Amino acid sequence: MDLESGAVRERRAEDLPSATSCGTASSAPEQKYDVAIIGGALSGAAAALLLLREHPTLRILVIEKSTAFTRRVGEATVEISAYFLGRVLGLTQYLNEAQLVKQGMRFWFANADTKTLADCSEFGGRYLSRVAAYQVDRSTLDQEILDRACAAGAELWRPASVSRVALNPGADQVLLVKWGDHTHEVRARWVLDASGVAALLARQEGWFQPNREHPTAAVWARWKNVKDWDGLDLARKYPDWASQCYGIRGTATNHLVGYGWWAWWIPLKGGDVSIGVVFDQRLVDWPEGGSLGQRLKDFVCEHPVGRELLADAHWIEGDVHWRRNLPYSSATYAGDGFALLGDAGAFMDPLYSPGMDWVSFTVSCAVELISAHVSQQDTAPMIARLNQQFTRSYARWSSAIYHEKYHYLGEFDLMCTAFLLDLGLYYLGVVNQPFMRGKISFLEPVFSNAPSTPCYYLMRTYNRRLARIAQDRHARGALGRKNAYRRFLFGGYTLAKSSSRHVLNGLLRWGWLEITEGWRTWFSPAGKQERESPTGFGMRQPATAFDSKAAAPAATESVSPVRGG
Ligand SMILES: Cc1cc2nc3c(=O)[nH]c(=O)nc-3n(C[C@H](O)[C@H](O)[C@H](O)COP(=O)(O)OP(=O)(O)OC[C@H]3O[C@@H](n4cnc5c(N)ncnc54)[C@H](O)[C@@H]3O)c2cc1C
Repeated sequence: MDLESGAVRERRAEDLPSATSCGTASSAPEQKYDVAIIGGALSGAAAALLLLREHPTLRILVIEKSTAFTRRVGEATVEISAYFLGRVLGLTQYLNEAQLVKQGMRFWFANADTKTLADCSEFGGRYLSRVAAYQVDRSTLDQEILDRACAAGAELWRPASVSRVALNPGADQVLLVKWGDHTHEVRARWVLDASGVAALLARQEGWFQPNREHPTAAVWARWKNVKDWDGLDLARKYPDWASQCYGIRGTATNHLVGYGWWAWWIPLKGGDVSIGVVFDQRLVDWPEGGSLGQRLKDFVCEHPVGRELLADAHWIEGDVHWRRNLPYSSATYAGDGFALLGDAGAFMDPLYSPGMDWVSFTVSCAVELISAHVSQQDTAPMIARLNQQFTRSYARWSSAIYHEKYHYLGEFDLMCTAFLLDLGLYYLGVVNQPFMRGKISFLEPVFSNAPSTPCYYLMRTYNRRLARIAQDRHARGALGRKNAYRRFLFGGYTLAKSSSRHVLNGLLRWGWLEITEGWRTWFSPAGKQERESPTGFGMRQPATAFDSKAAAPAATESVSPVRGG
């Protein structure tokens, strides 16, 4: 790829012409663009690249705060975001060469009987995955996409930061940009906010809505010297365990789970591993005392799988992070002159990695909107539709899959049932769409159209019921009874119709659970204790990873913009 033109387009503060040395917005030279993009990471760079492919003469400015991308969360793609990266952005060869091909998801369960990794109940694929997905190091992936956008003609100001945007519907948007020692006034007909969790426009305009019903938090780090899942060491120690999976466990996203929490295990190209814990602050007390890296290690090592694989591992100094109150959304996603991309608009939950799926939908829709404007179509109906679609998609996606899920995450039988249904319906209703219809399907976010409505109600219902069954187990002291010595290794999903049998299997399992156990809760309301007594991030006592926590003090209200990398 010829990146020469990209290099020419990238301008740094020291390259500024002398006319800009005056240093105030009013006296700096005015800059005029067709599109200004706040943030040059995945969302911003992808939007610039796609816009320039369709309209090579557009004047696009990308403003990126960081000097260089560091590693960040958002490292596991699922099938939709993999399609977007590979087939829409055209990165398949790059992904194969510079990142890792992902082998699905695996889950590991434990209870008081599980002394070793091999004792833990497991579910996941027996074979390699059938539809492409990747494990990505975002510091290199995002730079690759940004380089391609620059090569296609985008201008990049870096490091430069947008402090404020004056929105003017139907006219030029005005951005205040700090670049080097100077503040510039940049004018652009369209501004795309791709500023991530900083969510510049949503916060500035008062659209930002924390999702307090689902108060999750996360702590994560990248690690060295993590044991090889598929290596000789473990195979010699646990030969029966090793022989049961015919694929590769190590390049899956492995999930260690417990009551109210899960940990991701994502390998990165070159050998480092990203490991982090996500927990519901109402159900889990994060341990106090010691460094955050040590607390993370201690927490994960309460699980036999963590203990085994992290025995000789150490976190990378300076690469340990946390964030609380993860989910949020925006009351508005687009208007005449702006659109919110990726995390700048909303975030749901990291489980099942929907973040980059959301990026794929929001970027595709924003590109379509600006293309409509370029071809002089009336954009008002499209803007109204986008706002309605994304509002509905966020609400339904969160509610159908994530709401109260942390009650049953640690239950082998309940999660097997949920996973068969969650993943099966994702394949049948979402993953198959781009393969059948091409990239146009990215203009319809998940759960935003009428045919998806029955599916939404079905998912919401079984998710609520499984959570209710887990709450009842919790109340009876019956959590985790199936978490030892079981293995559910299935053939995995494909896009063939025959794959729907796994969904049927999931429905039968759910029915059986209701008959054998769920009846206990058919007529009793959900327990209220946990919901009314949230826990803050400054937690009171060390967590016992498999134990439920009693109610705890109120959570910190603010959504912290503290972020990884
Ligand atoms: C704990 C956790 C785990 C996750 N795991 C996954 C996962 O496995 N898979 C997945 O798909 N998603 C995951 N996500 C979500 C994923 O990280 C995001 O969806 C994704 O990174 C969003 O990309 P983005 O480009 O929109 O934002 P970001 O990657 O956050 O990029 C925003 C960019 O904007 C720049 N910026 C910010 N403010 C300004 C400003 N004022 N001026 C100029 N530039 C600015 C920043 O420097 C940054 O480069 C996870 C999220 C969390 C919290």
